[in-house]
Amino acid sequence: MSIKRILVTGGAGFLGSHLCERLVDQGQDVICLDNFFTSQKSNVEHLLARPNFELIRHDVTHPTWLEVDEIYNLACPAAPGHYQYNPIKTMKTSVMGAINMLGMAKRCRAKILQASTSEVYGDPDVHPQPESYRGNVNPIGPRACYDEGKRAAETLFFDYHRMNGVNIRVVRIFNTYGPRMHPFDGRVVSNFIRQALRGEPITIFGDGSQTRSFCYVDDLIDGIIAMMNGPDDFPGPVNLGNPDEFTIRELAEHVVEMVGGQSRLEFADLPPDDPRQRRPDITLARERLGWAPKVKLQEGLARTIEWFRSINMDDYRAPTPNY
Ligand code: NAD
Ligand code: UDP
Repeated sequence: MSIKRILVTGGAGFLGSHLCERLVDQGQDVICLDNFFTSQKSNVEHLLARPNFELIRHDVTHPTWLEVDEIYNLACPAAPGHYQYNPIKTMKTSVMGAINMLGMAKRCRAKILQASTSEVYGDPDVHPQPESYRGNVNPIGPRACYDEGKRAAETLFFDYHRMNGVNIRVVRIFNTYGPRMHPFDGRVVSNFIRQALRGEPITIFGDGSQTRSFCYVDDLIDGIIAMMNGPDDFPGPVNLGNPDEFTIRELAEHVVEMVGGQSRLEFADLPPDDPRQRRPDITLARERLGWAPKVKLQEGLARTIEWFRSINMDDYRAPTPNY
């Protein structure tokens, strides 16, 4: 195997740290770039002593000059409370981050993958969501900074591809969970596990009938790497996620049962523009990449709960007051 120089932006985050770990284990030469807005060094601490791993503190909204063969562009706050904390910065991170990384890919002739999102489909009218669905996004709502930022980034990727021949990959990631989620990120899986472990009420927004499909992190990382190494005539976009769909109430009940605590369910207002349903159509990923998730929700939740039990949640700085 020839060793590649690989840049992972957002590499200290939840998904980024798992990706860096996998690439380091493969023997690649990995550069992790992060401004630590929503993550901490502890996520990649175990990699620091590895000779094929480097860590750079940098903000992707500013240009960087590196020599690389591949770029995984993951830098962007992903939890609603994090990306709504400073929505203008979120949009800048998606758009200016994409421009800066695409510029680097063009100069280095590097292959570049964009971590896009199921949020490009907004609150979907089509269910499950295939890649051909163009979405139902509110461009002026509180989620728009993230949804429209990611949509604009996809546009930039395809324009750099058409205009400059940049070798791109775009993956649309659906809700992913697992060890190293920030315990105070406000996302549903981390919230419910934290609350159940502390015996606090489980906060269900709305009546809990809205659905999500949860992918375990190891499966997702397999899919991202398969896409980067997939055929050049398949830039995507491709959905990556687990099509097993659950209501938020079902998720709450599973977590309480698995943690075995005394938490009761507490109902609060549904946030504006909260998608009613979400499930990926992964036909394209199956056909073109031979990829499909393997880990069932119960198994993934068990591993995630075990990790949450192993950490001291108070060591985690809440990046924003929005949890
Ligand atoms: P995360 O918040 O844990 O990771 C994001 C990382 O990017 C963090 O380490 C953060 O500090 C860093 N970052 C943010 N702004 C930056 C900037 N301006 N410059 C440099 N670094 C910056 O979130 P995650 O769940 O690991 O998400 C990673 C990527 O995957 C994001 O682009 C996200 O939009 C995408 N995604 C994730 C999910 C999911 O369910 N986890 C779903 C869809 C898309
Ligand atoms: N949610 C909830 N309680 C929480 C956190 C989230 O009921 O404590 C709901 C939220 O309203 C949404 C779903 O869980 O319907 C998933 O939310 P998350 O923030 O994890 O991600 P989203 O898929 O909405 O971006």
